Amino acid sequence: MRESKRPVELWDAIVVGGGPAGLNAALVLGRCRRKVLLFDDGKPRNLVSHALHGFLSRDGIAPAQLLALAREQLAPYESVVVDHARVIDAARTDTGFSVRTCDGRSFSARKLPLAAGVVDALPEQPGFRELYGVGVFHCPYCDGWEMRDQPLAIYGRGDDKGGGLALEMTLWSRDIVLCSDGPSGLSADYRRRLDWHGIAVREEPIVRLEVGSNVPYKASFEIVFQSGPRLSRAAIFFNTGRSQSTDLAARLGCDMYDPKGCTVDNDQRVTHVPGLYVAGDASRDVLQAIVAAAEGVEAAIGINKALLHEDLA
Ligand SMILES: Cc1cc2nc3c(=O)[nH]c(=O)nc-3n(C[C@H](O)[C@H](O)[C@H](O)COP(=O)(O)OP(=O)(O)OC[C@H]3O[C@@H](n4cnc5c(N)ncnc54)[C@H](O)[C@@H]3O)c2cc1C
Repeated sequence: MRESKRPVELWDAIVVGGGPAGLNAALVLGRCRRKVLLFDDGKPRNLVSHALHGFLSRDGIAPAQLLALAREQLAPYESVVVDHARVIDAARTDTGFSVRTCDGRSFSARKLPLAAGVVDALPEQPGFRELYGVGVFHCPYCDGWEMRDQPLAIYGRGDDKGGGLALEMTLWSRDIVLCSDGPSGLSADYRRRLDWHGIAVREEPIVRLEVGSNVPYKASFEIVFQSGPRLSRAAIFFNTGRSQSTDLAARLGCDMYDPKGCTVDNDQRVTHVPGLYVAGDASRDVLQAIVAAAEGVEAAIGINKALLHEDLA
């Protein structure tokens, strides 16, 4: 691996994003002796997280350490270049794609794997962003175990995003309050089910999350409502959605099945835009680091096969 000093004429692939998906794509393409340029602007989705869970052989590793290890292991592959810049534009060309970086450089590649991830939409009240990754979480699979048997809150509305997540969290704790920050939108059926499982519903608007010296043992903050008593909790899990971290796929005409992910036609992560691949969180719904890494491999193998097909025909 080397830092890029000057643009190379035509790369086999330009990878956008250096999280688990992009790094694994680059690794496998490097092992195929492909010329790969990987751009990353250093804002992984789990930037705030202290420990990554559920990743075989790496359970509990600091996310930054996982990325550092992955980059270290790219080093022997001389045809792989990592560049710390944001890609701001991409277009189709006769030979594949051209991309433009935030510092005004342009590069061309035959294939374009996007592994740029997503951005989570956090509730806007003070405290949510500050406590994100500490007491505010979105993913029970990532952080439920660490919060087991603690007093928990769920932030969400409606049967699915509010009621469904609250019921799911009973796997990890029996002390759960659903906070809908306004009318809950729950059906009578869900209200009955929540009630059956001892889950209270607080519909008062939330003003802030407050960390203070009077927060009781086991709790890490209090939820302050517009009215009614404060609620001490160890953690709050939210379900308010996410969006793509770049609009590159949309600009290239990639079909979006919803704002969260790109349509990918088969298990090689290729989209209906020829030569455009999407891997990792940006592509579908099991948003876990090891899945993102595996999708990076799928994209890399798909790209290598496509290049072989073009070159050896
Ligand atoms: C708080 C939190 C905790 C989590 N905990 C876990 C956990 O315990 N276990 C687990 O498996 N998963 C966890 N996740 C999910 C995990 O972070 C993602 O599944 C994983 O990071 C997805 O990898 P990715 O490569 O698709 O995207 P990312 O890791 O988000 O990487 C995308 C990269 O692309 C870069 N990028 C974006 N746009 C551009 C551009 N235009 N130009 C250049 N670079 C760009 C970004 O800066 C980023 O570095 C957690 C997520 C969060 C938010």
